[in-house]
Amino acid sequence: KHDTAAVQTLDSAHFIHPFTDHADLAAQGAKVIVKADNIHVFDSEGHKMLDAMSGLWCVNAGYARKELADAAYQQMMTLPFYNNFFNTTNVPAVRLAAKLASLAPEVDGRSFRHVFYSSSGSESNDTNVRMVRRYWDLLGQPQRKVIIGRLNGYHGSTMAGASLGGMSGMHAQGDLPIPDIQHIEQPYFAEKARAGESAAEFGVRAARWLEDKILAVGPDRVAAFIGEPVQGAGGVIIPPDTYWPEIQRIVDKYGILLISDEVICAFGRLGHWFAYEKFGYKPDLITFAKGVTSGYVPLGGVMVGDRVAKVLIEQGGEFNHGYTYSGHPVACAVALANIELMEREGLVERVRNDTGPYLAERFEELQAHPLVGAADTCGFVGGITLVKNKATMAAFDADVGVGMICRGHCFKNGLIMRAVGDRMIIAPPLVMTRAQVDELMGLIKLCLDATLDELRS
Ligand code: PLP
Repeated sequence: KHDTAAVQTLDSAHFIHPFTDHADLAAQGAKVIVKADNIHVFDSEGHKMLDAMSGLWCVNAGYARKELADAAYQQMMTLPFYNNFFNTTNVPAVRLAAKLASLAPEVDGRSFRHVFYSSSGSESNDTNVRMVRRYWDLLGQPQRKVIIGRLNGYHGSTMAGASLGGMSGMHAQGDLPIPDIQHIEQPYFAEKARAGESAAEFGVRAARWLEDKILAVGPDRVAAFIGEPVQGAGGVIIPPDTYWPEIQRIVDKYGILLISDEVICAFGRLGHWFAYEKFGYKPDLITFAKGVTSGYVPLGGVMVGDRVAKVLIEQGGEFNHGYTYSGHPVACAVALANIELMEREGLVERVRNDTGPYLAERFEELQAHPLVGAADTCGFVGGITLVKNKATMAAFDADVGVGMICRGHCFKNGLIMRAVGDRMIIAPPLVMTRAQVDELMGLIKLCLDATLDELRS
């Protein structure tokens, strides 16, 4: 039995939470999560909730997997820590690097044979900024510094991560972006398409905003473009199929590096180990974190493609960059166990061929709901746009806060979904079965109905 009030009091007294309005937190009292199993989490009051967000898009293998706890325990008892600086290494870090290299498919002779480790997505994107700039320095083009990201993209919370991202609320706090970071619009068809424009046409036009930006900045000053395969935190924005191939054409034309931030999308989330495979492009660097360990312990990193690795390793000398926990043996051992578990249970294939298509099919049904303007999925991420008027697709007035109303009904009914403005989003654990997809859909419909009732009353 937990003393919820006591935990909440201590929480308010001492804990500064990430992305939290503390006045609001104090008024409501923090929800205290004490336990989790499979796809459910439990709070201190004994409420069971279906976690349709996999924590923060990360618990791909589901909760309470003994294999992962065992791997951590064994590694802690063998070698809990040693650093990888100054010519030392450890076995789990080496084995994981080789495993990750084997999971990243080669495209047109370009492969990923190297990994640089960190402990998070944000750190990994800081690494990307330094690595990209070092690459161009080594090639004698130090003026190539500008990295282009996208408005409403999310690449983390450090100075560089938040700068690469395009969240205006984040830029407003702390004088961001840092110099030499630029942004283009996101490929959001529902919001940005012209009347009569097909998704395919829009995808090409949206990608060409990158070319416009490169020309505006000056092609010889541009170092790289960074994007999420599917924008996650921005509201699960799934680009048209034509988008990434056109981005590829443009980065190739100007010779700039392509960074695929797959912190959410890799490790099966879109039905592939790495998401560039799904969209058919060829990144030079891939950011990963979250699903690599199913979130059980912190681990992140950058998969470094041959083009960059060759210069960095053969011409580079020492790269003055690294973290105490780069290649942490416990984190790497847990990642290996996680990947092994996902392979044994065929979770990636299941999302690609079975539960992912099934979720998409069930999401189609939501289109009939009076509140739903659009409902779309890609693998095991999905978004539902709530609209005031289905016929005209008119949005609710911002002061209605329809997303927050809906989220409130989700909590009340034992469902965790995230609200991004008026878009309700999901990213369920990949272990979710068809029967559990049905359970999820039942809850979503219940919560949409409750939201509608509240709006009408
Ligand atoms: N990149 C993307 C695409 C993300 O979604 C996130 C986190 O949600 C990050 C980077 C930052 O990762 P972390 O929170 O592990 O620093």
